[in-house]
Amino acid sequence: MKRVVLAADLGGTNIRVAAIDEQGTIEKRLQRPTHAHEGEASVLRSLFYALGEVYQAFPENRIKGVGVGIAGAIDIEKGIVTQSPNLVEFDGYPLRDKLQASFLKHLAILVDNDANLAAMGEKWKGAGVGVNDLICLTLGTGIGGGIIIRGNLVHGTDGMAGEVGHVTVDPQGPPCNCGNRGCLEALASATAIKREAIEALFTHPESELHQRCRHNPETITAELVYQSAQAGDQICRKIFQDMGRYLGIGIAGLVNIFNPEMVVLGGKVSKSWDMFFSFTQEEVHQRALKIPGTRVKIVPAVCGDDAGLLGAAYLVFHQKKLS
Ligand SMILES: [Zn+2]
Repeated sequence: MKRVVLAADLGGTNIRVAAIDEQGTIEKRLQRPTHAHEGEASVLRSLFYALGEVYQAFPENRIKGVGVGIAGAIDIEKGIVTQSPNLVEFDGYPLRDKLQASFLKHLAILVDNDANLAAMGEKWKGAGVGVNDLICLTLGTGIGGGIIIRGNLVHGTDGMAGEVGHVTVDPQGPPCNCGNRGCLEALASATAIKREAIEALFTHPESELHQRCRHNPETITAELVYQSAQAGDQICRKIFQDMGRYLGIGIAGLVNIFNPEMVVLGGKVSKSWDMFFSFTQEEVHQRALKIPGTRVKIVPAVCGDDAGLLGAAYLVFHQKKLS
């Protein structure tokens, strides 16, 4: 009898739930809206319904446990969401206790940061198979990070280790959501690319992005900037060049601190690889110490949106200390 873990990704817009077996095969999956704007009780109800739908599809003795990923700082010992950027009402929320008080009470339940789980998913079934020291960056609306050393996630004293998006890469840089300025997230995320593009349009009437966004800067996305860059627009190419360099500065610091074998880049911005990566690599070679800088392989993620779900399943299957 193959056992499964119910893995959930609690995002600001959608909740994704999957049943995953010990080989990493996804047996069932679904996606439901989070209803984040309707408040905490509504989000919890949506999560219960989504988990319940998958739960009911399996006999009870096949379900090994539950793993939930959420953006933000998580106290994994207590299963408390200390602070979440997508679900602000969840600050200080005892998510594991709430789940444990439901129909899931007989199961082991794990709650962790979504980027940490994505790193574990890439190590288990993605780009990092067989690699014990790896760092995974998720380049999306924000930038998440997960650090795995000797096969284990690094959580830090407060469960906030791996917040690579909030490492300063330009002291004079633009403000970041965290209150600091010049964070990697403020210079290399999809949000940063969009902001840079909107600013550039004011001074560059020749940019073909004007036509592409139908002269409405509000419709600009990182994908649209990428399409313009691919079509040869120099302004958009420069935006990816700068983004790539800042990313390289951030990665060089990580390489010097952790000496990882691999850095995995996921998230929607990583799809623009051909426009930014050579600049990232150049900065890493220039700034990282020679031995770790030469050794590190920087590669695209392969699990896509499933990385976090896979990581959650892996940890529930393999961690002994779960309540
Ligand atoms: Zn920040």
